[in-house]
Amino acid sequence: MRFATLGLFHEANTFSPFKADKRRFEDGGVCRGEQIIAEYAESSSTVGGYIAECGRLGIELVPLIQAFVTPVGAITEDAFESLVGEMLDLLRKNGPWDGVLLNIHGAAVAEHIPDADGEIAARAREVVGRDVPVGAVLDMHANVSERLIDALTVTLVYQTNPHIDARDKAEACTRLILATAEGRVRPEQALTQLPLVVNITRQDTSEPPISELLDKARELAGGMLSVSLVEGFPYADVSHMGMSCIAISDGDVQRARRVADELADEIWRRRNDLQARGITVDEALDIAERESGPVVLLDVGDNIGGGAPGDSTEILRAAIARGTRSLVQTLCDPAAVRHCIEAGVGARVELEVSTDKVPVTGLVKTLSDGRFEEPKPTHGGFRFFDMGPAAVLETDAGHTLVLGTKAVISSSLQQLLSVGVDPTTFQVVVAKGVNSPRAAYTPIAKRVVVVDTDGVTAMGLERFTYAHRRKPLFPFEAGQWR
Ligand SMILES: [Zn+2]
Repeated sequence: MRFATLGLFHEANTFSPFKADKRRFEDGGVCRGEQIIAEYAESSSTVGGYIAECGRLGIELVPLIQAFVTPVGAITEDAFESLVGEMLDLLRKNGPWDGVLLNIHGAAVAEHIPDADGEIAARAREVVGRDVPVGAVLDMHANVSERLIDALTVTLVYQTNPHIDARDKAEACTRLILATAEGRVRPEQALTQLPLVVNITRQDTSEPPISELLDKARELAGGMLSVSLVEGFPYADVSHMGMSCIAISDGDVQRARRVADELADEIWRRRNDLQARGITVDEALDIAERESGPVVLLDVGDNIGGGAPGDSTEILRAAIARGTRSLVQTLCDPAAVRHCIEAGVGARVELEVSTDKVPVTGLVKTLSDGRFEEPKPTHGGFRFFDMGPAAVLETDAGHTLVLGTKAVISSSLQQLLSVGVDPTTFQVVVAKGVNSPRAAYTPIAKRVVVVDTDGVTAMGLERFTYAHRRKPLFPFEAGQWR
């Protein structure tokens, strides 16, 4: 058996002012051939799972191309056509294949194609034809379209948020594609899209209601090839945005349809429990000041994993105003990093940080190249990280700022530890995200608090103007389901 693996992985926040252009993809990482093995084989990611399981099952896996970009706005037409064009050329030239394993997110949007993942899958299907099984593992934040499901033979979805099961799901996907290629199973997929958005603050899979809905999905999975609950990604203004369910049966499409609908019924019943819940910055700092030990504040509005720039100082400014000391946070600010590098370690500096131009004075504690490695399975399973040249600044107000040149998802404590900052020694630890930081930050936290901050990933969706979403869609409209 000979399988291809290829992919373009992007979660698009269409409210971000920044586009995913070629330069951002080069920054995020475009790997070809053996580079893919070096980058992904030892990671807990989807591609890591494909590589491992093919190895175990004696399948020859040919790594073609993998393009990744840190979540940002829509993909430019130029970047999309050039990367996907190369991808499909490689697929065409190196075939024939017994199976194809795609690495796509499910919430990609291109400037000229709102359903970018559906497009990639459809084009790949066109190259290999109807008879070659094509599998994909989607992020739980996927906005799933009928077009995507039609193009794929098997669609699995992470069922954890923070996402720590990417590798497991990829292994399962590889086994299903092999079984299909060998004619042992005949996957029939059904997609049910719900007229419903689950708020970003209610997506943790270890907490009700999502944990209970996942119990229901597992109960329904008996005798099925797979049943997935998909949370969706509310910051993409596209018609297929929202929650969905995917069921796969062996040869019985009616049954797949019934199971997907039954899970959707249960989710719809819980729709009021899936809406926003968070507290103000001042309430959060009140809590942090009362507790002993680190209180992790999840900065919802500046969620890098959701496409925010990672440069918000809303919590920092409140801490300065209140005199709250012992706070650590990352901040993407290339100009501030340059300033610190020019001043050198040990120098006193006076500068303005972030686009908010917050004046700070302090000491440059450390400088680094900003590269770090996370051996433990964290959100999305990434192993190698690069925040670009970085500096640690200890301010006179008692705050430690880990300044970086590129925004990096707050999913690993190594981002701090690698530059000599121990988060457990702080009273307040600000993490840029809602769910992605939890796997790393919850273990060190006395308490984790979801903070309602502003930004392109703010929790209150009424702050955004949608032009393309479906109507009705709960909670914007009352909506109805069946
Ligand atoms: Zn996700």
